[in-house]
Amino acid sequence: MVYFVGAGPGDPELITVKGKALLDMADTVIYAGSLVNPELLSYTKPSVRIYDSARMTLEEVLEKIREEEERGGVSVRLHTGDPSLYGAIDEQMRELEKLGIPYTLVPGVSSFSAAAAALKLEYTPAAVSQTLILSRVEGRTLVPEREKLAALAEHHASMVLFLSAGMTAKVKEQLLLGGLSGDTPAAIVYKASWPDEQKVLCTVETLDLAAEIHGIHKTALLLIGDFLKGGKEKSRLYASDFSTGYREGTDRSGISVCAFTDRGEETALALSRALCASYTRIRGNLGEWTEKHFRERRALLFVGAAGIAVRAIAPFVRSKTLDPAVLCMDEEGQFVLPILSGHLGGANELARKIASLTGASAVITTASDRRGIFSCDSWAKKQNLHLLNPEKIVDLQSALLRGETIWVACPFEIRGNVPKGLRLTRSGDDPKGERCGGFGMVIDIYQSACRDMALHLVPQIVTLGIGCRKGTEPEAIEKAFQSFLEETGIREESIFRIATIDLKKEEEGLLRFARRHHLPLAFFSASDLEAVPGSFEESAFVREVTGAGNVCERAAAAGSGGALIIRKHRYEGVTMAASCALPNLSWPDLGEGQEEERDPRD
Ligand code: SAH
Repeated sequence: MVYFVGAGPGDPELITVKGKALLDMADTVIYAGSLVNPELLSYTKPSVRIYDSARMTLEEVLEKIREEEERGGVSVRLHTGDPSLYGAIDEQMRELEKLGIPYTLVPGVSSFSAAAAALKLEYTPAAVSQTLILSRVEGRTLVPEREKLAALAEHHASMVLFLSAGMTAKVKEQLLLGGLSGDTPAAIVYKASWPDEQKVLCTVETLDLAAEIHGIHKTALLLIGDFLKGGKEKSRLYASDFSTGYREGTDRSGISVCAFTDRGEETALALSRALCASYTRIRGNLGEWTEKHFRERRALLFVGAAGIAVRAIAPFVRSKTLDPAVLCMDEEGQFVLPILSGHLGGANELARKIASLTGASAVITTASDRRGIFSCDSWAKKQNLHLLNPEKIVDLQSALLRGETIWVACPFEIRGNVPKGLRLTRSGDDPKGERCGGFGMVIDIYQSACRDMALHLVPQIVTLGIGCRKGTEPEAIEKAFQSFLEETGIREESIFRIATIDLKKEEEGLLRFARRHHLPLAFFSASDLEAVPGSFEESAFVREVTGAGNVCERAAAAGSGGALIIRKHRYEGVTMAASCALPNLSWPDLGEGQEEERDPRD
């Protein structure tokens, strides 16, 4: 006999009573290692045979079941959440029928239920929506035409998307195309009911940015709809806080389109609808419109002559890192031409998107794109790497265009094939210090001695753990922070959040310090901190006062889920430590993290 059992979303207590009893009596358990919490396996008896299906083919799974059947035993096929959703049980059941092996289904708590519980929300509040759509965005697994996200979005019903966290840009595009407004509430719920559960509230417009900033690309659900407005956790609304990941110049939102003539207006309107952009018909002063939108928006699109656009933006142009994308389109909508911030500002990408939406030709003029050469600023943007010295981009790009080889020093793994023209330096052949020859690229969280001869890119992956005495002034924390940076060599730009104990929720000095540096604060309870695995510098005194043996180290480790890289440093009334998660880096030809998450064969 085979039982397909729903394991629940992660918390081992969220399996059903029946499911647990079956695990207890099972002779063989085949579980999906990638998503099922292994703690559930402790419910089994000592003689059980356990297999992880993440490493098995369908044939191998069936073989194990068949063997158990021959012994007259019981097999449990343990699936994440509820087996009936994206569990690929259909094909297994059909095969079992062919083999004449009887089976039973035992439902489970699906992750979508756990996500609602995590957010303390109802999907179907009376005045908002009476329908919940469960679906996924199309990736390698095809989705029937009438179920495409754009079609589903038209219902404006509550929506939960599985297997889509790695494709948030596409999700956003489809939802906007289907007519949802950019400010429709959205949420990303990562590992609902697990200890490292994470909830990010955002909007449809900022869905991809939110996923990028928080580094969430899998094991997460995307929730969309007005039902999210009922949430209690408004403090996590990141819409106004996006500058933390992108720093200066990128906390703008939206696209603005303008036109000057009737013919241009038709094209501009169609385009605005497709992009969910705001549209203005210019009748008076173009300079005024340009000044306002250049400052506030992510992209400006002029429908009309390029010369008009160039003259309009000229007084406001500042630098590659600060300017928005500016594009121009002819009145007939035949060509779309990025004229400013092609790479960092995303104008080239937007031109390509417009081309794919409208059939216009994108006229890309940046040399590296024309010749298929690696473009470091586009790449850095997609990988969420902070450009420390963007003035070096020109040197690096020119060297590549001349056919020179650029060395790349990076202590982290970068998936995929190294693009032509780049050479990864092996360890032991570290180009830092005097040995660097030619131009290079350093990807690191630490200061680099090679600043003059390299473009320095900083992954935003460090969590700064802070402990401080009650009533510590922000200046004292600032002073400690500057010493910390100097002593450890860590770049401030690599820090993406501060972690501490929840006793510090009202600690004014710390709150002001965090605000000043645009860093979000994560608070952990003493018991959360005590539960963090690893060895830490413990103090009996600190434990007595706070309930945790060490605040800064444990908070840093709890905050990033990664390794502690800098142990406790002591300053006047302040302690600091740092931990670092691994960045998710890939070279351009890998699809840059936009790869579809694999269907779990669970
Ligand atoms: N049968 C499962 C879904 C399996 S498909 C269920 O009912 O939940 C795998 C996808 O489910 C993941 O890509 C992710 O989108 C989602 N998922 C599974 N467990 C999750 C969890 N604890 N938190 C958030 N999403 C989860």
